[in-house]
Amino acid sequence: MQTCQHCHAGHLHKKHIPYANWHASEFVVVQNMPAWQCDVCAYCELDAEVINRLLPLLGPVTRPDPTQPRRVLKSTTSATDPLRDELDPDRRRA
Ligand SMILES: [Zn+2]
Repeated sequence: MQTCQHCHAGHLHKKHIPYANWHASEFVVVQNMPAWQCDVCAYCELDAEVINRLLPLLGPVTRPDPTQPRRVLKSTTSATDPLRDELDPDRRRA
C-alpha cells in the first residue's frame, strides 16, 4: 500500500471522484474518475495512468479565456433564475 507523500502518515486508497477542468478551452467533466485518497489527511490525487490515457483525448489543460464570452451549451434554467445572468454575459447588455 502506498504511503501518502503529503502527510507521510496515511495510506492512499483507491476511490472514484468527479473530475472537472479546462482542456483545450473547453470545460470538461468526467464522472467516476479513478483517484487515490489518503485516509489521514484526505489528500487526493488522480490516477496517473488514467490521466496519461485521457490527456491525448481531452487536449492539454488550459485556463478559460476571460476575453471570450462563456457559452451555455444547454440551458435548463428559467428566465427568473438569478444564475442565468451570470451564465450569459450578453443578456445583461441587451
Ligand atoms: Zn496524507
